[in-house]
Amino acid sequence: MEQFDSIVVGAGPGGSTTAYRLAAAGRTVLLLDRAEFPRDKPCGGGLTIRAVKLLPFSIEPVVEARVDAMRFRVGFGSSFERKCRGPVVLMTQRRRLDQFLVEQAVARGVEFRQGARVTGLEADDGGVVVRWSGGANGTGGVARAATLVGADGCNGVVPRLLGLGGDYTHGVALEANVPYAGAERARYEGAAVIELGTVPGGYGWVFPKGDHFNVGVGGWDAEGPHLRRHLAELCAAHDVAVDRLADQRGYRLPLRLPGSPLVQGRALLIGDAAGVVDPLTGDGMYEAILTGRLASDTILDLLEGRITGLDNYETAVRRALGPLAAASWGAKVAFDRFPRATFMLARVPLVWRAVEGLMRGELSHPGAARGLARGPLRAIQALARAAGDPGRAFKSEP
Ligand SMILES: Cc1cc2nc3c(=O)[nH]c(=O)nc-3n(C[C@H](O)[C@H](O)[C@H](O)COP(=O)(O)OP(=O)(O)OC[C@H]3O[C@@H](n4cnc5c(N)ncnc54)[C@H](O)[C@@H]3O)c2cc1C
Repeated sequence: MEQFDSIVVGAGPGGSTTAYRLAAAGRTVLLLDRAEFPRDKPCGGGLTIRAVKLLPFSIEPVVEARVDAMRFRVGFGSSFERKCRGPVVLMTQRRRLDQFLVEQAVARGVEFRQGARVTGLEADDGGVVVRWSGGANGTGGVARAATLVGADGCNGVVPRLLGLGGDYTHGVALEANVPYAGAERARYEGAAVIELGTVPGGYGWVFPKGDHFNVGVGGWDAEGPHLRRHLAELCAAHDVAVDRLADQRGYRLPLRLPGSPLVQGRALLIGDAAGVVDPLTGDGMYEAILTGRLASDTILDLLEGRITGLDNYETAVRRALGPLAAASWGAKVAFDRFPRATFMLARVPLVWRAVEGLMRGELSHPGAARGLARGPLRAIQALARAAGDPGRAFKSEP
């Protein structure tokens, strides 16, 4: 049987960057994905600068647009725009980004097998045996590794096979592309539009790309049957006929609960498989890349004999993302229950400086904001508490 130091299941941003880091540290890595690459994934394709800063290489070849202004509107009515100190989001397409990330991993020595759908896992003495169907010759395969990384996204098989992930709650989102026509390129260039108070438990967006713009809506899981209507309303507000929408795709967003376990023996979960999507924004690429880094650090500690198990990984994820999850849940329910009051607080320029600091990776969570921004942020927290704030439990996560 083939042997590796680590097997990574899923070649999204989380899996590919984890595989890259492990290989860069001299480890043997097998990266498996059920899809044939390049493949697409339902996603707005917006990579915040805090995510970009975590990457060990530049993604310049697949960047289509830069966002250095944000336009916020509530209920398709009152709006404000904030200019940023520099780019806060790089816009790409997942088909291009994920292919590029896999190429970087392969160039570092990762063994990549595509069209390989993982179907079984067995723990043995000090390792994990992984079975898959498909692969290069279509006959499937089996390999063993000292460690396993479950990076197979929402609806992945690894959490289920490990008996993890059963307690996540979910959001849902739908997106589509619109080729630029008329003055649209100039209208959206350099800016991301966020439409608040229009979708229960979420928002709508318009993102600029290379030869098109991306429109989308996301909200509570229960909004699934209504997402097409929400998308049609967003399009109407932007004078976009729905018959211009191309590549419409929807998917779920997994949100872990406080205390959800992420480790089982020699295996751990990262990214969407770990349910670490941001509850407020629905972004998950930053979290996937960050948990991938924490995972590769822990795995290297284990392989190099500094620790004897992977449990430290759970603590590292809670420390890194718990305060952010607490604040994001709070702002999410505040916007949901009191959209206009929360919007008025969010438009205070000092609040924007805190949000910009978060997006640029200069601030780890809103609670770390200093000075006058703390007043309106505390007021948003008070609204969150009045809305029953489910995120408070993340603050006391062990
Ligand atoms: C509509 C929508 C819009 C979004 N917009 C944004 C955005 O603009 N910015 C942002 O940061 N986030 C966004 N997100 C969230 C983001 O897409 C995810 O959080 C992110 O893709 C998670 O990365 P990942 O590496 O954990 O998993 P994924 O990117 O989901 O990758 C998982 C991989 O695992 C593979 N896989 C699955 N099962 C198996 C199996 N059994 N065997 C082998 N391989 C398997 C899949 O083929 C896939 O390639 C959006 C999500 C949605 C639904």
